[in-house]
Parts: sequence; structure tokens; C-alpha cells
Amino acid sequence: MNDLKVGPGRRFNFCAGPAVMPETVLEQARDEMLSYQGSGMSVMEISHRTPLADEMFEEAEANLRRLLAVPDGFRVIFLQGGGQLQFSMVPMNFLRRGEVANYIVTGHWGEKAIEVAGIEGRAHVAWDGNAAGANYVRVPEDDELDLEDGAAYTYFTSNETIQGVQFGSEPAASGPLVCDASSDFLSRPVDLRRYGLYYACAQKNAGPSGLTVVLVSDEMLEGQKAGLHKMLDYRRHADAGSRLNTPPMFAVYLFLLITRWIEKDMGGLDALAERNERKAQGLYSTLDDLGDVFATHAESSSRSRMNVTFRCVDPSLDAVFLDQADRRGLMQLKGHRSVGGMRASIYNAMPEAGIAALGDLLEEFAASVRAGKLRAS
Ligand code: PMP
Repeated sequence: MNDLKVGPGRRFNFCAGPAVMPETVLEQARDEMLSYQGSGMSVMEISHRTPLADEMFEEAEANLRRLLAVPDGFRVIFLQGGGQLQFSMVPMNFLRRGEVANYIVTGHWGEKAIEVAGIEGRAHVAWDGNAAGANYVRVPEDDELDLEDGAAYTYFTSNETIQGVQFGSEPAASGPLVCDASSDFLSRPVDLRRYGLYYACAQKNAGPSGLTVVLVSDEMLEGQKAGLHKMLDYRRHADAGSRLNTPPMFAVYLFLLITRWIEKDMGGLDALAERNERKAQGLYSTLDDLGDVFATHAESSSRSRMNVTFRCVDPSLDAVFLDQADRRGLMQLKGHRSVGGMRASIYNAMPEAGIAALGDLLEEFAASVRAGKLRAS
């Protein structure tokens, strides 16, 4: 497979989100900006109740169903409100007062999700990756989970974007799984038959911010609570074809282009997963080889293929590293303040050349540190 294109004036963008997009997708959006499908109007200027919009939504959904092999009996919903609205919508729709839901907390986003779930019912911590100040360095083994029987659902975050820890496979739980897949959505195949609900905000692998994609099973919807507000009710959104109100037309359009790109240019999710694995392993092995200068945050068994978190062994050098990276056009590598150091987000659209350029900098920087040539700024 050829590497992705990086045109003049573009930089390697390692931002955790909003994140790098495929350059060919941006180019197509530019070319169609003034006239979507020859309509003489931008996609942002057409009604969401036109045949053109119907076609766009239908193709976006069909492409997603094919890519993820979405089983029959699942609804696809395009929503707004970001990943965080799902933290509330999931318990509002499915967790009754007096009932319990299991939450496996492996990082910052799981922590935020369980916080609001407790407003609706009992949110039980089935595992806490920050127990005893462990600072979320790994995901649990199945036999470490303290799952309550009869729970409405078991919730987990497949990839914790800030800490850079990722599940290799689903946690073992008897009831339906609910997953926040915001930062590894469409990066690898998933067996959705294990899930009751699977969601992702788009701004990492699937488009711009403003769009959230939700896959929910009919079985899960049967257990929905009564008396929901219209705009917070999954079924109402699904029944309205994701157009209960004005949808984010431009974001859905870009999502559509990205699904085409994954299928046609990248060869589907199996090929993409293999490529993502190669990119991540390349970067981790460089960091491991330079272990006297750099330390990684996550334990090796739980390392994320999407967000590589690391720091300088001498923390006073982090700022020097970031400054050098910036000057080389390796952008937005600063880690989240709760983890510190650096975070290289290497989503689907990060070219292999970006990984190579970062690898070169890591090696040159380590050589300078070893030679005693660097001082903290
Ligand atoms: N979940 C995960 C895993 C995330 O990385 C993020 C941040 N992008 C969110 C939820 C929250 O998303 P948003 O900012 O769209 O609400």
C-alpha cells in the first residue's frame, strides 16, 4: 500500500482531536465546496430534507454498515453533542433508579462517564485503573473485574485517549456492553454482536467535531426508559433517520468521504488495522530502544495503537523536545496536563512518513542528550 500524501505547506499533525484528516478527503471537500454533486450549492446550503441529503445519509450509513459488518438488528444514528453527551444519554436511556451499571474505568474519559451516570442510578466501579494512584497505565485482566450481576450494561472505553491505554479485546461481561470507542473507531474491525451500544465522536478517525456516531441494538432499545426528553431519546433519533432536528450536514458529508476513503483507498478495516499496528509498533520500538532518554506511560500489554504517551526521563527536557518537534513541523505533540510529557496521536490518517520523521527526531534528540549537549529551556 502506498503511503498517504502530504502536500506542500502541510505538517505532520499529532493532535489527539480534532485530528489529522486524509489529505485527499480535504481536497475533495475543497473541490466540492461551492457545488455539492453539481447542485450549484454547498452541502452546507442544502436542506436536510432533500433527496440529495437522503442520499448522503443513506450512503454514509450503508458504508459504515459494510465497513464494520454491523449486524442486523442494530440502528445507526448520527448525533451531535460530542462524546460527552453520550456519557449522559447512555444512563438517561438505560439506567433506572435502583438499578446498577458496571463501569470499567481505565482513564480520564471513563472517569467522566461514571461521574454523570451516578445521577441516574447506581454506577458501580468494576475496575479502577487509578486505584492506589496507579495513574491509568493499563487495562484490566478479565479476572480482575468486579462485575455486579444483573447490571443494565457494562461500560468501558476501548481506547483512553489521554493516557494511551487500549483494550486488545472486549472485557468479559455477561450483560450488554456499552463502549466509548471515540478514539479507536474505524481503526480496526470490531465484533459488534458483543455490544448493546457502541459510539464515537468523529473528530479522531471519522471526520470533524460536531458529529457523533451511535450504533445501538434493538434489544438494547427495548430496555429503554420511559418519559425521555425527545432530543435525548435514541429511538426517536433512529426513527427520524438521524434528522429529528437539523443535523451537522458538513460533518456527515466528511464522514461519508472518510468511509469511502477507508474502503477504496485504504482497503478496509483489516488492512487499516495492520497498518495502524505497524505504525504503533514502529514508534514504541524506537522509544523502547531509547529507554535511557524516554519513558512510555502505558504498560506494554495495554499500549494504545492510536495515542502514544511518553516523556523524557529528565522531565525538564520535555519542553525542549516539544520545541524541536515544532520547528521540524511535527505539530501538537504536547501531552495532556494530567499525564504530562508528550502524546503522539497516530490515527488512521497519519502517514507512515510522519512516524518516520518522529522516529528520526527521537533518535537525534537521544543522541544529543547522551552527548550532554542539551539543557532545559
Ligand atoms: N471519549 C473519548 C475517548 C475522548 O477521547 C473524548 C475527547 N475527544 C471524549 C469522549 C469527549 O468528546 P467530546 O469532546 O466530543 O465531548
